[in-house]
Formats: sequence, C-alpha cells, structure tokens
Amino acid sequence: MDGDVLLRGVECHPARSALRGGLLDVRIRAGVIAEIGPQLQPQGDELDVRADGGALLPGLADHHLHLAAMAAHATSLDLSGVSQDGLAAAVSGAAAGEDGWVRAVGYDDVVHGELDRDVLDWWSHGVPVRVQHRSGALWVVNSVGLERLGVRECAALGVHAGGVELDGAGRATGRLWRADAWLRTAVGGRPPSLRAVGARLAALGVTHVADATPDAGTAGVVAEAVQRGELPQRVMVMASEADPTRVSVGPLKLVVADHALPDLDDLAERMRTAHAAGRPVAVHCVTRTALALTLAALDQAGGLDGDRVEHCAVADLAAAKELAARGIRVVTQPTLVALRGDDYWARTEPEDRPDLWRYGGLLRAGVQAAPSSDAPYGDPDPWACLRAANERRTPSGRVLGPEERVPVRTVLDGLLSPLHDPGGPPRRIAPGEPADLVLLDRPLTQALRLPDAGCVRATFIGGRVVYGDVG
Ligand SMILES: [Zn+2]
Repeated sequence: MDGDVLLRGVECHPARSALRGGLLDVRIRAGVIAEIGPQLQPQGDELDVRADGGALLPGLADHHLHLAAMAAHATSLDLSGVSQDGLAAAVSGAAAGEDGWVRAVGYDDVVHGELDRDVLDWWSHGVPVRVQHRSGALWVVNSVGLERLGVRECAALGVHAGGVELDGAGRATGRLWRADAWLRTAVGGRPPSLRAVGARLAALGVTHVADATPDAGTAGVVAEAVQRGELPQRVMVMASEADPTRVSVGPLKLVVADHALPDLDDLAERMRTAHAAGRPVAVHCVTRTALALTLAALDQAGGLDGDRVEHCAVADLAAAKELAARGIRVVTQPTLVALRGDDYWARTEPEDRPDLWRYGGLLRAGVQAAPSSDAPYGDPDPWACLRAANERRTPSGRVLGPEERVPVRTVLDGLLSPLHDPGGPPRRIAPGEPADLVLLDRPLTQALRLPDAGCVRATFIGGRVVYGDVG
C-alpha cells in the first residue's frame, strides 16, 4: 500500500528528548517522516492509523545474513533435526527439486558422522545429491552429482584443487569446500525467488539487511531480486562486485577459513586492495587463530573505518581490547548460541570455553558490537535474537557465559544501528528521515518483557506498508 499515513498515538523510540513520555502522532508523506507532534490534524486522504500507545521503532536491521541461501533453504531437505540412524532414509526418500537435484542442508559431522560420495552413493545412486554442512563451508556430493558437475579425478590438482577435495590417489571424495559460487553456476537452473524471504523478514519488522555472501554471483541474484521488487528491504551487500544502482555496497567480505588459513601477507594485501578501493573489510573469524591472523593482517594493511569481524566466535579479553583499540567492529550471532550452544561447548577446548561467542564482554572492553542472525544458519527472527542475547540459554538450558548476557535495550539498539555502522548510534524517528518503521501492538517495555515477533503490527519501508493490516 502506498500513500500518506498518519500514525496516531504512538510511543516513539528512541524517545525524542523534548517530548519524552507522551504519545505522539507521526505523519508519513512521500516515503519520509514529514511531521511529529501531539495531536496532528488528519489531512486529505491519508491512511489514518490508531496506534493506541503501541511503540514505533525505526525498522530493525539484520547486519549479517544470506538471502539466496535463505530462499534455497526453504526448498531443501533439512537434516538438522534428523538423527544419524534416520539420515539414510531421509536422504534416499527425498524428492529432487526443479533442477533435478536432491538438496539437503543442516548436515552435522558430529551428529551424522563423516560423509563422502561413497556413503551418499549407498543411499542414492541414481539421482544427483548435494548435502550442505551446517557451517555452510562444505558440500558433499554423490557420484552422479560429481559427474553432472564435470568433476574429473586428477591427482595433479592436489588435495584442495578449487575446493574439490581429493584423496591420496587423486580421486574426488565428493567433498567440496567453499565452492558455492562455482557450484551454483555448475548446477545451473533459475535463481531462487526472494519474495518469500522478503515477506518473512517484513513480518518480523526487518527493514534493513546486510548480505554477507562473498561471491559476486550471489550479489547479482540479490540485486536482480531487488530490481524485480521481490525484496522490499534496503539491502547492503559485501560481495566482491555489486551493482551500486540497486543495492548499497558494504565492506568487502573476506573469509579466514579455519580449515585452510590464508597467508598473512596475502590477507594483508587483499585488505589493502579493498581499502584502496574505498571499501572496509568484513572478516569471517571463528577461531582464536583466525582472529589473531586477522588482527596481524589489519595491522600490516592499516585500518579503515568500517572494518569489522564477523562472528568473532572465540575471543579472549586481550583480543577484545585490541579490537576496541583499533576501532574494529564485531558482528555477532546470539541465536547460534541458543540453537547450538551445547555443541559449541562440547567441541571447544575447556580453555577456550570462557571466550565463546562473547557479546557482553566485547561491549565492556569497548568494542562496537552488534547482533545479527547469519540466517539461514541462525534464526532470522530479531525477537528471538533479543531473547537469545539476553538469556544465552542453550537447548539443554545451560547459560553459556553468564557474563556475556546483554540487556535487551542494548541489543535492540544494535538492531536499530545503520547497516554501514553496526553497533553505532541507533537510527532515529525524526522529520526528514526515511519512513522505515515498525509499529508494535503494545508499548516497548511490555514488548521487551518477553520479546516475540507477534508484537509486530505493521512494517513500513519508504512509507509503504510491507507487512500488517492497518487499513
Ligand atoms: Zn554468514
């Protein structure tokens, strides 16, 4: 729905100092906030919305997710709730998608055991199958699939030739590391529609998203979806190439993969090149070593405002202080603790456990840190994120790092911070600002007592109602 809107009787957040406490009316005209004040006069054919004291917030931002993977996830076999015993039946019974492949996600080597082409061939030898590890870093493909992809055994290529893992005899194991871009081209087929993803995010109150997928092809898919109007959100991408006329170009995503650490000089050189092109870097770090290497490389390259670390899954306080001293932001994922905290605990060396997925400790050390989902690997629901960051409760009920808990208001501020400045000052509701807003069905204090997406009554992007019934 387009047109002008008068929201009557809202509780504005962050609160406007001059009018703190009272209910206000907010007029939206031509996509921007035109006027704010008590008891505004309705005009012309404005849509007149009685908010009855519901909170009005700037739209929520997800500072790290993967839009195309979210869409593909929805049409894939999800193995995350499947036991090791149930795995064979789940894969062999799965139906192939439009591209002729069985696509499965959520494979976990610890729960399901090691997978390779031979294991998959036992279960499914006639249909191409590709199974994604829950980290997103690994695909396992059966023999028919490898044939379709044109993967030839070749001992001369070495063990990790372009991500295709080979055994000692030069035979492909079916394991493909960080090969998403190549795999997507090789599988072919139509790019997934992002319409359902956009609608789901709108229903959660999300108006801003940062796509953290590194490859340019995926950024192209996202830019086209924006162009086709499938995705109402404001989108920033971190890929190596992106069309700045359709999406906003963010920091350049660099992956310091834990299974194959890059060379320090190479990493520093890639940072320097990005900086020279005016782009900060967003570096994927999930181990202590990856973080140390990243800090060393950034020291060598020199920093640029906007540089950030994604995940920062293991960081001691000395590393946190180094991040703070250099002004490097951190984008963390509270729902991963809620979904997988027990696994992280079990798989981490005891001495690393206090340093797992810090959030509160980073803030105390002076790091500018913000929450995000990493969907589809984490939960895209920002209200679940508020709960997860505040409670840090794992599926078994353990509190992972009680001192890492963060007050919901602080987490919310992170969700309200601009895409280009995660963890910075929250966006504001003020005249002249874009009308990217979330209207709740209750006051904020009530909504934050037990955060739940059910409190979202309507979402506006550029003044347009993208979710909710306010007519
Ligand atoms: Zn990610």
